[in-house]
Amino acid sequence: MQATTPCDADPARRSAWQRLHARLMPDYNRKATAGWWAVVLLGCAAMAASLATLSSLPASALAQVTGGIVLAMLMALYPMRVPRTNQAFSLGDVFIFLLLLMHGPAAGCVAAGLEALVSSLRSSRRWTTRLGSATIAALSMFVCGHALQPLARRLDPSAGGSSDAAALLVLLVMLFGVVYFSCNALLMSLVARLKRNELPRLSDLFSVFGWVGGATAGAAAIAALLFITERLAGLGVMLTIVPTLGLLLSTGHFFTRQQEADEAVRQAAAQALLREAELERSRALQREAELAAQHLRELEVSERRFQGAFAHASIGMALISSDGSIHLANAALGGLLGCEHPALVGRRFGDFVDGADRQRLDSTLARLVQGSSAAVPVELCCHRPDGREVWASVSCSMFSQPELAGPSLIIQIQDITARRRAETELQHRASHDRLTGLPNRECFHQALGQAIARADGGPGRAFAVLFIDFDRFKLVNDSKGHTVGDEFLVAASRRLQQCLRNGDMLARQGGDEFAILAQGLVRDADAVEMADRLLAALEQPLRLGGMEIAATASIGITFSSLGYARPEDMLRDADIAMYRAKAEGKARHAVFDVRLHTEVANRVRLEGDLRQALAAQSLAMVYQPLVDLGSGRLDGFEALARWTHPDLGPVSPAVFIPIAEESGLITQLTDFALHAACRQMKDWQRAHPACADAHVHVNVAARDIADPGFVARVEQALRAAGLAPRQLVVELTENILMAELSAAMGTLNQLRELGVGLSVDDFGTGYSSLAHLAVLPIDSLKIDMSFVRQLRPGSKEAAVIRAIVLLGRSLGKQVIAEGIETALQLELLRELGCDIGQGYHLSRPLAAAAVDALVRAQGTSVRLPAP
Ligand code: C2E
Ligand code: MG
Ligand code: MG
Repeated sequence: MQATTPCDADPARRSAWQRLHARLMPDYNRKATAGWWAVVLLGCAAMAASLATLSSLPASALAQVTGGIVLAMLMALYPMRVPRTNQAFSLGDVFIFLLLLMHGPAAGCVAAGLEALVSSLRSSRRWTTRLGSATIAALSMFVCGHALQPLARRLDPSAGGSSDAAALLVLLVMLFGVVYFSCNALLMSLVARLKRNELPRLSDLFSVFGWVGGATAGAAAIAALLFITERLAGLGVMLTIVPTLGLLLSTGHFFTRQQEADEAVRQAAAQALLREAELERSRALQREAELAAQHLRELEVSERRFQGAFAHASIGMALISSDGSIHLANAALGGLLGCEHPALVGRRFGDFVDGADRQRLDSTLARLVQGSSAAVPVELCCHRPDGREVWASVSCSMFSQPELAGPSLIIQIQDITARRRAETELQHRASHDRLTGLPNRECFHQALGQAIARADGGPGRAFAVLFIDFDRFKLVNDSKGHTVGDEFLVAASRRLQQCLRNGDMLARQGGDEFAILAQGLVRDADAVEMADRLLAALEQPLRLGGMEIAATASIGITFSSLGYARPEDMLRDADIAMYRAKAEGKARHAVFDVRLHTEVANRVRLEGDLRQALAAQSLAMVYQPLVDLGSGRLDGFEALARWTHPDLGPVSPAVFIPIAEESGLITQLTDFALHAACRQMKDWQRAHPACADAHVHVNVAARDIADPGFVARVEQALRAAGLAPRQLVVELTENILMAELSAAMGTLNQLRELGVGLSVDDFGTGYSSLAHLAVLPIDSLKIDMSFVRQLRPGSKEAAVIRAIVLLGRSLGKQVIAEGIETALQLELLRELGCDIGQGYHLSRPLAAAAVDALVRAQGTSVRLPAP
């Protein structure tokens, strides 16, 4: 059970004694307090008894005792410290033991108590310790001294003992010293042990004995030797030794003091060094701490910046693992993908990506994680939960995130939907026709090129091109206006589109030309069937703005089986086939074949030859007389071009005129005809007075009428020949006139101003409106020979011709009939009131020399064949 101290009592109820105890002996428990008081009281009692004993000593002895006590106390002021221990001993012990031996235990007791008091005054601040030390020393000396006294008395040298007795005395006193020291030390440790509630142990004695125990025994030996000296040699001899001893001891004392001082300096230096090192270490620690704190602050700032940049970035950002799972997403990404951004965490980014693009994303992430590619942005199509489609530019890069096990990536996602839409729109605009919305010529060309590149002749891999041209579009455009023309194209293209199969492409080539790329054909006949379907679909008239317009088309077809290498070749042949369809009567299809190919080749050859012939001026003109049907007089001639090919012989104008028109050679041909005809007419004028008022008719083409320089070219021919303009009549077909109406109007008016006559050729085959005819500066209408050929009395043609004649009369225009082959036709035309006639029945076209001969023989009145 733990012993309690007086301090354990309630502070309020403590007595004065208890309060004093608490102040002076706070660490003394009950047992320690009792032990302390026991030794102190016993020590005091021993002191008191000793003082009483000393008081009975004679004065000389008392003086010696006092001197010895003073010396012992003085010696206590100069203790000798045992190096590197906290133990010290003083030479006061020598005088204590000497007093003990010379004057008995009372003197030793008082000396020991006072010497211990002085010594403890130096070593302790506590009075309990000081009093304890002094009384313990006094008590120990009192007890041990009384034990020693009888033995020492027997060995007193002055009693006439032997030298062995003196030695025994020394040993005895030394033993006494050890016992005294042990007794002293045990009593001291008793109080210390009791403070800790322990009993004193013998081991305490060994732990303190060491140097001090030995020194005590040494002091005892010195005291014994001094005592023996005093007994044998007297006090005087002993006192002579005492100064020497004092000197020796003081030397020892100062030596140890010096050593102590050196030690203290060394220790101070070491401590200073230690302190410095400690200071340096603490400074280093502080610097490290400051650096760490700064680093932490910077990290925090950087973390905050990253968090801020991440959270408030205007583009979508996310931290994802290598398998695409989202760890962190910002609000912008949530907005882009149409989700609350916290809801994105844990989902795979790839789940939002379109199936086709997902693989691209996965392989990009895999390459990035393997380090085999740098961060390259990919453009992906994403689907939002609300069904909207978003285009995103996604950039990925590796990101170190220690708290995550695997590699992680940071992805930045930018909404590029607007850009992609604009691009798509631009692409669409670049590749599509504005009016019909169909793919345009370039787009078709590209698709056809791809089809040709893919073609391997395998089943179902064949394809065909259908080239479509509307037969009467120009007429619709010119007569109904461009708006209706545009509506016509849109409506007609919709009709065509309805006939397409999956995978077919309908494209507008320009104007009224369309083309179809029909793919995946099992046999060529499939394309022909498609053409039939297209023609059938167009049979129903189109309803445009309240009117119905018939839309027939000519379709040319060519097949991949012919082995095309270039899209333009395939398109060209489909175009050629389309012309064949037109030539065969329009509103039909024609298939490009080898025969057509040969025709085209021949045509190409003829074009080259015609070019050469024109350059060599090797064409010739023939002149067919025009006769006034009323008077029978020669009215003039129609100049007709003739070409005799060096290999093929004569080539019909029906063949070479279209070639010249398509190749552009017609301009040269017209100039040749104008110059030759004007010159010839002038020659005839000069040669035959009968030809003074005759006219020469020259045929011109659409391209001439559209040429702004045409009037100048006519003037040039007239001037070169010196012919009066009124003697020249320009013939242009009704179709040309109507097709080029707007361009023709200006040219015709200029020609009229110049004085040149104008005649509408092949009248009745075109679609002239009467309104136009009335205002056009036309001098004559030349009825197409198809009417004349069918002319019978009372026939439909007769009625038409009569109507044309009446029209001509009412508009003030001459009416000419061409193709008169029989006397009956001639007679009927005369009866119908036709003004002028032309035809084989009157005269075939004649070479200039033949005309010369004719005129010379017959004069101005041509002999008309008998009816
Ligand atoms: P066109 O201007 O209508 O010329 C009349 C055509 O009818 C000529 O044919 C003429 O020989 C032919 N003809 C005349 N009387 C008869 C007849 O009684 N019966 C038959 N069956 N035919 C008759 P040609 O010379 O072959 O010319 C054909 C077309 O070629 C011309 O038709 C004209 O459009 C064009 N042409 C001829 N020469 C020229 C020319 O120098 N320049 C231009 N631009 N075209 C020309
Ligand atoms: Mg003509
Ligand atoms: Mg004609």
